[in-house]
Amino acid sequence: MSEVITIANQKGGVGKTTTAVNLGAALAQNGKKVLIIDADPQTNATTSLGFNRNDYEYNIYHVLIGIKKMSDVILHSNFKNLDMVPANIGLVGIEKEFYNPKKKNRELLLRKAIEPIKSNYDYILIDSPPALGPITINSLGAADSVIIPIQCEFFALEGLAQLLNTINLLKKSINPKLTIKGFLPTMYSSQNNLSKQVLEDLSHHFKEKLFLTKKKEVLIVPRNIKVAESPSYGKPVTEYAKKSKGAAAYFDLAKSIVKAEKKIKKQTLSKIKG
Ligand code: ATP
Ligand code: MG
Repeated sequence: MSEVITIANQKGGVGKTTTAVNLGAALAQNGKKVLIIDADPQTNATTSLGFNRNDYEYNIYHVLIGIKKMSDVILHSNFKNLDMVPANIGLVGIEKEFYNPKKKNRELLLRKAIEPIKSNYDYILIDSPPALGPITINSLGAADSVIIPIQCEFFALEGLAQLLNTINLLKKSINPKLTIKGFLPTMYSSQNNLSKQVLEDLSHHFKEKLFLTKKKEVLIVPRNIKVAESPSYGKPVTEYAKKSKGAAAYFDLAKSIVKAEKKIKKQTLSKIKG
């Protein structure tokens, strides 16, 4: 069973790319076959995995405008089990395409493009841009579930209602099966009272949507220098500093996601058996 997970939050700099790259890498290190799709013209996920513009001619933009297939633009990363679909600054041009009223099913272009390769992967993670525009709508339209990183800082929950509203609208229209996999508190700093406050607020409003560690504690990603450094080495933190607290958080997140999937499989099997 393969799952498409979009990492979304229209707020900028909250840890979307960091989560897509490091969760993807942690899942791959756990033996899962993973594809990360960079759906952000900023190309941060592409660069974080060590790719630069000379490494590829075509990217997700060419897939969305229909001149390349997804399988044509997949790159193998330097890391086992981890593939990547790169982006390019030219992806901003897609906005124009989307507003072409003659184009049908504009919200489902990415979903359609993923379909033929979906079963090749256990997990496909989509890194989306900091906006609720056409690219994010396509990323959510393509997803089975969404992870929402929340930066543990002032204004953390600002704009969240709008995002949840958008998700609900998509559920009612193009993607009825879309679920919220969870909220992920990022850049948590234990010395900072604001961080604690944000975690309390999240626990109060969305308790059942927070990921848990093995010890049943709320899973947070700590503010960790290794996490911030690793992209400049073109490596996920789970490879660059395996033993760091940041890597540990993403390994825990991967485990929690795989465990939840196993549970669902078991339930489905026992239902079938009656
Ligand atoms: P954008 O909205 O621009 O796409 P984003 O939501 O993808 O941003 P990131 O790029 O993942 O956010 O993170 C923003 C910055 O914070 C980056 O410089 C990143 O390295 C840093 N950062 C993210 N998570 C952590 C962490 N746990 N500890 C330290 N720094 C972090
Ligand atoms: Mg980003």
